[in-house]
Amino acid sequence: MQPVITSNDPDGTRHHVLVAGAGPAGLTAAYELTHRGASAIVFERDTIVGGHARTAVFQGYRFDMGGHRFFTKIRRVQEIWDELMGDDMLRVKRLSRIYYNRRFFRYPLQIGNVLRGLGLWNSFLIGLSYLYALAFPCPAEDTFEQWIINRFGRRLYRTFFKSYTEKVWGIPCDQIGADWASQRIKGLSMRKALLHAVVGDRSGTSKTLIDEFQYPRLGPGMLWERMADAIDRDGGATHLGSSVQRILRDGDQVTGFVVGQGDNVNTMTGSAYIGSMPMSVAVRMMDPPAPDEVLDAANALNHRDFLTVCVIVEGEDLFPDNWIYIHDPTVHMGRLQNFKNWSAEMVPEEGRSSLGAEYFVTRGDELWSMADSDLVAMTARELEQLGILDADQVVDGVVYRRANAYPVYDGDYKQHLQTLERFFRRFSNLQMVGRSGLHKYNNQDHSMLTAILAVENLFGAHHDVWAVNSDDEYHEEDSSRPAARAAGA
Ligand SMILES: Cc1cc2nc3c(=O)[nH]c(=O)nc-3n(C[C@H](O)[C@H](O)[C@H](O)COP(=O)(O)OP(=O)(O)OC[C@H]3O[C@@H](n4cnc5c(N)ncnc54)[C@H](O)[C@@H]3O)c2cc1C
Repeated sequence: MQPVITSNDPDGTRHHVLVAGAGPAGLTAAYELTHRGASAIVFERDTIVGGHARTAVFQGYRFDMGGHRFFTKIRRVQEIWDELMGDDMLRVKRLSRIYYNRRFFRYPLQIGNVLRGLGLWNSFLIGLSYLYALAFPCPAEDTFEQWIINRFGRRLYRTFFKSYTEKVWGIPCDQIGADWASQRIKGLSMRKALLHAVVGDRSGTSKTLIDEFQYPRLGPGMLWERMADAIDRDGGATHLGSSVQRILRDGDQVTGFVVGQGDNVNTMTGSAYIGSMPMSVAVRMMDPPAPDEVLDAANALNHRDFLTVCVIVEGEDLFPDNWIYIHDPTVHMGRLQNFKNWSAEMVPEEGRSSLGAEYFVTRGDELWSMADSDLVAMTARELEQLGILDADQVVDGVVYRRANAYPVYDGDYKQHLQTLERFFRRFSNLQMVGRSGLHKYNNQDHSMLTAILAVENLFGAHHDVWAVNSDDEYHEEDSSRPAARAAGA
């Protein structure tokens, strides 16, 4: 059980909760704490807030690290977004197509568009393969491949899912756990896609299918910067460029964070501790060290990394999509963002656009290690190859590398995660939150939810933060579930 803190202790002391990381989860924890009169101090390794959901600025152009849609069914999360953003939160129509075989396909799939794009004969074969999958489904659904084939048929899997998914994860689809599919595209099947194509998404339940989302007018970082300001105003603090380097512990009790940069380090103590750094990183920081089996599990947990080549280009209306999924296996690019279609204010000059070419990579591989100038040149070539623009329309570019972008759900991850979960659950005053902190493929809203619940635990609630993941999005309106109740959903 976590220490119970109150904002008005009889002796008048304010409790300091120490938080590692100023991404959506860490900041939300501090925001909720300061809202309740407790004090929170956030330590952030980088020099800007927002984690993966930051907004970077280059030559006055604003770039997301991957486009960040804001969409939630969690009431408290929506309230926070409303509190901080008011009219600065835009409602954006979604258009995101798939680029495959030199053609664009609407996503969610539309029957007429698919028929035209693939041709009648191919579409007929896709239909047959779907019927075959209905009649003879894969008996096991352990892998991504089996999960998709059972819902869409093998031929559509090969056309629209295989090449893109393998770009994202860098491993064959038969080695990717079905959990990822069920968490990310749960609620979507051929039947639903067809129904959506005919009558629209009436249930409103499938995140994959939503056709409108919210977006801060200056990019997602705008929200996280405002949240950091609000924390400061309410008596908390966010220290940038201040990394948590060691987690001091006495058995299952944390006794302090060693924070700072280089040799300039200090030991900070608090009434409670919240961590949003990757879980495996937190394990390796333990002092004294975690047991060997825990360290082995931490070392076996994998992340996929990500880099985005952001280019400023000549041209006003390059394509109407917010983003395009690039399924074409002849280019490395996995997704392409057009930021002015998220918010016009991302682009400061008329007659120009800014694009984010996204590459899914593994730290140290060829693309990750390539010089920035070579990556910009490669992106210009690939954009020309895809027919989006001529390479000489690219006037400038910058590369952002994001380590630990995607928690990998590979064959053994569950077993390792269980070992780590058991280890962290024992701590009486440390809670891990967020996406990498819990190794869950959480969007911003679920990352925030874990922080909201962790703070409620500090005020006497008994939420199981480990139980939150994107599966909950389908149950959030069920008020009998603790996570949903706590979030006010
Ligand atoms: C490419 C991409 C696209 C995405 N698209 C969407 C989307 O459309 N919609 C959506 O809702 N979500 C999206 N997400 C998910 C969203 O980015 C995450 O849910 C969210 O950023 C997780 O927040 P977090 O605070 O848990 O982790 P992070 O964002 O990873 O933040 C963790 C913070 O901790 C800091 N840190 C790490 N180690 C230390 C240390 N030792 N000491 C101090 N600080 C440390 C890091 O620098 C970072 O700032 C996307 C993610 C990616 C990668």
